[in-house]
Amino acid sequence: MELTECILKQNDCFRTGKKIKVKGLMLHSVGCPQPSAQRFVEQWDRPGIKKCVHAFIDGDSGMVYQTLPWNYRGWHAGAGANNTHIGVEMCEPSCITYTGGASFQCEDREKALKTVRRTYDSAVELFAFLCNEFGLEPCKDGVILSHKEGHARGIASGHGDPEHLWNGLRSGYTMDGFRQDVKAAMKRYE
Ligand SMILES: [Zn+2]
Repeated sequence: MELTECILKQNDCFRTGKKIKVKGLMLHSVGCPQPSAQRFVEQWDRPGIKKCVHAFIDGDSGMVYQTLPWNYRGWHAGAGANNTHIGVEMCEPSCITYTGGASFQCEDREKALKTVRRTYDSAVELFAFLCNEFGLEPCKDGVILSHKEGHARGIASGHGDPEHLWNGLRSGYTMDGFRQDVKAAMKRYE
């Protein structure tokens, strides 16, 4: 996993500077056809953006762009999970077109799947690293959640990511599989 640090120091969330005790990790995907993490860094590093996450994963390289110190309170979940969970966004393929809500069309599924695999694999490595860092058990209930799962638990706003993307492309990825993959990746560090 390659990580580059580009903290969003102009973002109101960073400037608020509230810290949390990290109890879990939340996986998101950006919800628009933008594979470039750098673009989000540029767009969000300014005042007046009422959202902020801890990292973006680039869709073209798999590179992790860390955008908040891990123990800062992020503005990623729209609800209580901000107080407990680190939020990580996976960038999305450029060849999809949203048609309303979480529905999209895809003109090149193979290409889209390559992007999705790249971000998935980096997310597994990043989450394994963070579980080690914060002493978290990836398969314990409530530790690793998608935004969608957070919503079902009443600790995140009503979004369907990233499962909407994985399912829409018939990628075969699931959050249960993700958690298992993170657990396996942690073993590689032992
Ligand atoms: Zn989300």
